[in-house]
Amino acid sequence: MKIKSIILISISFLLIINSISLSAFENLKFKTENSPLDFEEDIIDMINQINENLVFSYLENLVSFGPRYTGTDNCEKSAEYIYSVFENIGLDVKYHNWKFSKFESRNVVGILKGFDTSSDAIIIICAHYDTVKDSPGANDDGSGVAALLAIAEILSSYSLRHDIYFIAFSGEEVGTYGSFTYARDAYNSGDNIYAVLNMDIIGGAQTEYGGKIIRFSNTERSSWIVEFASNISEKYLNLIDLFIEDIPNYRGADNQAFVDYGYDGVWIAEHDPCIGGHSPNDNLTNINSTYLAKVTKLLLAILAEMAYREIEIQVIIKTPYEGRGYFFNRSIIPLGLGRLNYWSIRGITLLFGRAMVSCEAISKEDVKFVIFCIDDNFIFWDNTPPYEWKIQGKYLPLIGRHKLKVFAYTYSGKCATDEMDIIAFLLSYQYGRL
Ligand SMILES: [Zn+2]
Repeated sequence: MKIKSIILISISFLLIINSISLSAFENLKFKTENSPLDFEEDIIDMINQINENLVFSYLENLVSFGPRYTGTDNCEKSAEYIYSVFENIGLDVKYHNWKFSKFESRNVVGILKGFDTSSDAIIIICAHYDTVKDSPGANDDGSGVAALLAIAEILSSYSLRHDIYFIAFSGEEVGTYGSFTYARDAYNSGDNIYAVLNMDIIGGAQTEYGGKIIRFSNTERSSWIVEFASNISEKYLNLIDLFIEDIPNYRGADNQAFVDYGYDGVWIAEHDPCIGGHSPNDNLTNINSTYLAKVTKLLLAILAEMAYREIEIQVIIKTPYEGRGYFFNRSIIPLGLGRLNYWSIRGITLLFGRAMVSCEAISKEDVKFVIFCIDDNFIFWDNTPPYEWKIQGKYLPLIGRHKLKVFAYTYSGKCATDEMDIIAFLLSYQYGRL
């Protein structure tokens, strides 16, 4: 009798736990299948392998090179150090060499291949290893790089569904040129980058309040990442004790280039002010290693959960290409607007005369239809692939800067979106009412 009631109580307990964890994910934009229980245990194991010493020792090694201004010897040596760490923990490593403006340097990319060969999705976690001229850059952004290396070290012993790219960028402090050239090149090679988690300044907390918060700065298109991350923060709150603060986008960090090229990405940063930022005082004494380890744990959990879950639906605008000029639907010129980051026209697409949009929906189940919008207004839908539309206004010609947006839906109600910033001079429109 006794054993029976223990079993019954245990079963109902498990059912309750299960329903709680399911409800936590109900609102996700990209709904995913439930993870098997052993995966949850693996995540807890991974989190417990992160500790202050591990993260801080990576940070000490990086800071020991001194200021790492893009193009200097110190910067180059730091890249070699990061390369050797990725190599030693068994990642596929490569340099992404870049030249932009008067700068020349390289990003370091460590790849952990996913087990699902049917998925071409890439999840990027990144930080920048360069600094301003006279700063040791312990917090900006040694903290991000230390977290990146620690997360890579732990995750390299596991197999996750999708590819994870661990990227250390240079050129951030001189104009985010390392990430810009990477995002541009990745876009031109057709990479399916699902999400970008950019850690930049994550090692400082001077208040108890700040010690419990990590900020996610994002645009509307990337808000699903914040929603996803908030669910993970809640799920492991007892273990990590860190909340996510959802704040508006701030142009100027390394995730921006990816957003400009039509991908989703967020900037992750501490709550409290960065002490000594961009000065010789940005040193190890201003690092709160307890806080840095907590942020590293949470980022690891978010990344592992995201890389393990199946992506049920994605929609990707295939043409026109980001960052090109078109004349009557012909691509005539790649626009070199990388230096104009703050003008918000990097990666913009110019359309003149007439232009078609086409998109691809990647889904486990049948796609019901794709809806085409201009500035959030539904204008046209297509229910048979290839999903295409002649871009135009509804009642007036489409002239000026606009947002072209597509939504793909399945019969069970799953939805995905993609969008593109365009500057258009297109004279046709759907209904004449003037
Ligand atoms: Zn930075």
